[in-house]
Amino acid sequence: MSMPGTTVLGDILARRIAAEGPLRLDHYMAECLLHPDHGYYATRDPFGSSGDFITAPEISQMFGEMLGVALTQVWLDQGRPTPFLLVEPGPGRGTLMADVLRAIRAVPGMAEAAQIHLIEASATLREIQRARLAGHAVQWHDSLETLPDDGPLFLLANEFLDALPIRQFERRGDAWAERQVGLDATGALVPGLAPPLPLAALAHRLADTQDGDIVEICPGAPAFVGRVAAQIAARGGVAIFIDYGNWRSLGDTFQALRAHRPENPFATPGMADLTAHVAFEPLAEAARAAGAACTAMTPQGVVLERLGITGRAQALAQNLAGPALDAHIAAHRRLTHPEEMGHLFQSLAVYPPLAPLPPGFDAARA
Ligand code: SAH
Repeated sequence: MSMPGTTVLGDILARRIAAEGPLRLDHYMAECLLHPDHGYYATRDPFGSSGDFITAPEISQMFGEMLGVALTQVWLDQGRPTPFLLVEPGPGRGTLMADVLRAIRAVPGMAEAAQIHLIEASATLREIQRARLAGHAVQWHDSLETLPDDGPLFLLANEFLDALPIRQFERRGDAWAERQVGLDATGALVPGLAPPLPLAALAHRLADTQDGDIVEICPGAPAFVGRVAAQIAARGGVAIFIDYGNWRSLGDTFQALRAHRPENPFATPGMADLTAHVAFEPLAEAARAAGAACTAMTPQGVVLERLGITGRAQALAQNLAGPALDAHIAAHRRLTHPEEMGHLFQSLAVYPPLAPLPPGFDAARA
């Protein structure tokens, strides 16, 4: 069963498929990312220029600083709740949290009131976060369920939801064929389609799709946002979600990245980062269904500009020259420019129904 070019996890999955039949795409994605011995996140530090991809907090400290500014405004608006939970799911290297903690020191009492909780699946990344946040009291969790159940929740999630497993469906008439992972004649993993079935969850997509179109569903994302929103509606706070995505899912966005290069997502299970674009409409629906208010989906570049990133960039530039100054200017552009991350990355904030609109965000259209 072992083939040249595949991986240990690839062999494990191929044996399972040979015995049990094709694997749903979300199950495949979960194994590739989170398998305890051979999963992508379980085994490596994927960040930084030597890693597989670079995220906004790793591009510049200004990203975390601006989100810190947003949190301070919400904290003041909500009457300086003390203590409060400062929560980050999928904190990567801990860079965003470190930058936020520095930024919120500008408001007396806020940093002292923050109880830091990180939700992280990877033991490797937990160790990197521990080192990055040395000097702070931090608690780690496997999921939302073990967070303390009192106190307002201030949550930041950057490129977390895009790592949650997706299902894909291809339209066939008025029915949907689910994409699944099977084996070809040589025993290699290949995508295929299950027989089409009518699907209530995609009934609303018959109006805006055509035969052959692909639609994705990420069951974990609205479930996560809904649980967070229920706590914010009951206890106060805010949650900010930032990710590569669109309002509605359309087309195949399942992708693998390895050493900064796109790769066939079925070629090297466990060795490449797998993501999919985030659909924001289901997140907004889940937040409202849980009793919280929710902003419009707002481009990352717009939010960062409104929070003052250009002024901050100019202040930081005062102390820079030569290549460091060039890199700083490039980082500012990369985070905000519509042709770089500024428009591809979108954001959404969830807040208590009677609280002011979180700063930087567009109000939801009525
Ligand atoms: N927010 C960081 C990292 C993004 S990568 C940044 O912007 O740089 C995704 C992060 O989510 C990693 O820390 C990964 O280990 C974590 N992760 C992925 N799936 C997870 C899950 N199901 N539960 C908890 N953490 C998860």
